[in-house]
Amino acid sequence: MKNRIRTARPHVNRNEALIFERSTPGKRGVDLPPLDVPPASPREALGDSYREAIEGFPEVSELEVVRHFTRLSTWNYGVDTGLYPLGSCTMKYNPRVNEAVARLEGLASDHPYAPEPLAQGCLEVLHETARCLAEISGMDAVSLQPAAGAQGELTGILMMRACLAERGNPRQYILIPDSAHGTNPASVTISGYQIRNLKSNERGCIDLAELSRAMTGEVAGLMLTNPNTLGIFETQMREISDLVHARGGLVYMDGANMNALIGVARPADFGADLMHLNLHKTFTTPHGGGGPGSGPVAVKTFLEPYLPSPTIEKLSDGSFRLNHDRPKSVGRVRAFYGNFGMAVRALAYILANGAEGLRQTTEDAVLNANYVLARLRDVYDVPYDQPCLHECVLSDRRQAARGVRTGDIAKRLIDYGFHPYTTSFPLIVHGAMMIEPTESASQDELDEFIEALRSIAEEIEEDPGFVLKAPHTTRVARLDEVGAARKPILRWKP
Ligand SMILES: *Cc1c(COP(=O)(O)O)cnc(C)c1O
Repeated sequence: MKNRIRTARPHVNRNEALIFERSTPGKRGVDLPPLDVPPASPREALGDSYREAIEGFPEVSELEVVRHFTRLSTWNYGVDTGLYPLGSCTMKYNPRVNEAVARLEGLASDHPYAPEPLAQGCLEVLHETARCLAEISGMDAVSLQPAAGAQGELTGILMMRACLAERGNPRQYILIPDSAHGTNPASVTISGYQIRNLKSNERGCIDLAELSRAMTGEVAGLMLTNPNTLGIFETQMREISDLVHARGGLVYMDGANMNALIGVARPADFGADLMHLNLHKTFTTPHGGGGPGSGPVAVKTFLEPYLPSPTIEKLSDGSFRLNHDRPKSVGRVRAFYGNFGMAVRALAYILANGAEGLRQTTEDAVLNANYVLARLRDVYDVPYDQPCLHECVLSDRRQAARGVRTGDIAKRLIDYGFHPYTTSFPLIVHGAMMIEPTESASQDELDEFIEALRSIAEEIEEDPGFVLKAPHTTRVARLDEVGAARKPILRWKP
């Protein structure tokens, strides 16, 4: 594989030309019949915003436009193109049955302002999705409003604050382990709390003695991810939550990693008081550019009064209604009831798999990650050496000695046809290579991925300079990533 890629040159043909470069003066995409009504004056209607012509606007045929956008779509990479082992992101297959269900006329075209009696089916879908998520997490009540994991965190922390304020003192700090996802400190800060960092122990987990020192009367609670961002399960979860509760705090669990637990362990059983779930990770709704997100919050009964308003209730006659009369609620966090279409897809996924299927999914995801870890450990360093759950974290320590870092290895993976793993996260691992294959990957595909990473390790031994210049087969090579984030060029200009 290596040699083939080494000699490969970018595939260039005439179709690569950008549409702006193929413009022919006078060419048009439409052919209208002669006007048989008096012409309107756009200049009059539009006033100052009227433009006679757009400078440099490409003059092309309809077919050329279709080809341009179709071609651009093939330059992209997604879960439908190949393995997407981006750790912490759970980039799994989005089953087509979800889409078929989401397109059902009654679900796709109901209006959010439809009166309750006419929206009973949609309310039932929301109610049932919430019920399933409650069963999966072990929690008692769920709101589907938050539109992302990060917004679920914010909602959850605001609920913690409301609850503690009612008990007499909202307190000042929230504890966050040093392995936490970047959204955790952001949500805590926006909620008006301050952060106190917890240093992980040599296993990459929470240190009980350190927690005990930190968990004072000024601390509102602990925000933690389990399994943590190293893919390691916090086995002392009971002791951790008992300690926090004994000191009057609450335990928030970041449930973005639920793909490692569903059907096997329930956060409510190991002491979490509230959590969020990412429908666009664990529950196969489209992720990132593929669709809006959804980060429902699930809570124990004592936090139910603070859930965002409205909640959906099932009445004794079997009908559903929205309850807006919730005086202790933290309020509304999202228009209407959240991203309804995502609840539909998640419910389709849950029902299509059933309890057995969801457990199988978890076991396969964990097996795949351990398979990758076992087959790469002789070539890449394993900073926290123990079996993982749904993702594994390696490091570039050995390769760094030859001047090649995790980001360079990731770039080289692109040449082999794979989306890179997550680089340089979690921050507690220097040169982290975080791999989450998910259950969607077959063994054949994992073997190819593993062979690619092994082959890159060999290349680094033979010729590190070659890897440092990767990718060699893409249309653009090394981008100025900081520049792209700070000074993005979002519009083509002639
Ligand atoms: C993805 C993720 C989040 C944030 O979820 P978004 O939907 O991207 O806002 C939070 N915590 C962890 C551990 C995650 O992996």
